[in-house]
Amino acid sequence: MNEPSIGHNRQLADHALKIRKNAVRQAAPHGQGFVGQALGAADILTVAFFHAMRYRADEPSWEGRDRFFLSAGHCGISLYSALAEAGFFPVEELDTYGCDDSRLPMSSMWPYTPGVEMSGGSIGLGLPMAVGTALGLRLKKSDAFVYAMMGDGELGEGPTWEAAQAAVHHRLSNIVALVDVNGVQADGRMAQVLCTEPLHDKWAAFGWYVQRVDGNDIPALVDAFDKARDCTEAKPRIILCDTRMGHGIPFIEAREKLHFVRLEPEDWQRAFEVLDAGRDE
Ligand SMILES: [Mg+2]
Repeated sequence: MNEPSIGHNRQLADHALKIRKNAVRQAAPHGQGFVGQALGAADILTVAFFHAMRYRADEPSWEGRDRFFLSAGHCGISLYSALAEAGFFPVEELDTYGCDDSRLPMSSMWPYTPGVEMSGGSIGLGLPMAVGTALGLRLKKSDAFVYAMMGDGELGEGPTWEAAQAAVHHRLSNIVALVDVNGVQADGRMAQVLCTEPLHDKWAAFGWYVQRVDGNDIPALVDAFDKARDCTEAKPRIILCDTRMGHGIPFIEAREKLHFVRLEPEDWQRAFEVLDAGRDE
């Protein structure tokens, strides 16, 4: 690894830490939230917004932008955290999350928030919408990419696989699907509720260019995002990102139940202290 990449990775790690702070900042006033997912996906969002994607934060509707779709809109705080860090709106606005008249509704929805491209939350719709958008961009002869982030629980939804087939049929090479493989869905562990493994083999069998990486390893994510974009095959790309919910705050990561986290005020304070100390693992 050369010096510039080490420096770049350090910058990315700094962004990831700030994104995690942004997530805790939004959840703490409510005493609860989808903070486990936001902490776990912070490194994916960091590499998407600070390495891979092309956009103009001060011009969110710029036609040449890459699109980012957060399918699991109930985890809106994770996307808001990245958008604030990227400058789409002031970091202070995160304090309005979930409040009346805020531009940051509990579940991320278009068109309330600068940088939010779709109304998420109805599980399994992110990839279909991304496929339609990728088709539209190709018709417009745009060279922009569509990044579609899903939770692994969404792999139990039929529309996800319908979209997976459509993307291959239409040879969409301008779409990069991202799966936050944290092994948990709303009703419990994936392995117990609905096992979707072997994920790599399934997506490859559908005809996708597949990579599987540690979703909390920034250099590995950088490499995967680069390969996804540079791939010359006329097929859609997917990065399966194995993440650890609550990553970055050990006492949260160690909790048994993480789909929706409730903490006492002193524990939220403790979470801030862990992040302020700059520990990212
Ligand atoms: Mg999950």
